[in-house]
Amino acid sequence: MQLRLRCFNCSTPYAIKQEEIDAALNSLFEAGHKHYNAHCPKCGKSNKVSKKQLKMSAPKWEPPKKTKK
Ligand SMILES: [Zn+2]
Repeated sequence: MQLRLRCFNCSTPYAIKQEEIDAALNSLFEAGHKHYNAHCPKCGKSNKVSKKQLKMSAPKWEPPKKTKK
C-alpha cells in the first residue's frame, strides 16, 4: 500500500512507499512526534503527513516492542 500525497507548494502528486511509511511510523513513535515530513521529489519542500494518515496506509504496523530486560 502506498500513501498518495500532493505537494502543497508545487501540486506535484507523489507517493510514499510502504517501507518509508513503516520507517516514518517507527521514527515518529520513538521521537514522539505527530507529523512526518515527506519531501516532494520535485521541489524538495517538506509536506506534513499526520500519524493518522500514515497509520491508515499501514494497518499492519505496530509500535516496535521495547526489549528491555
Ligand atoms: Zn513540490
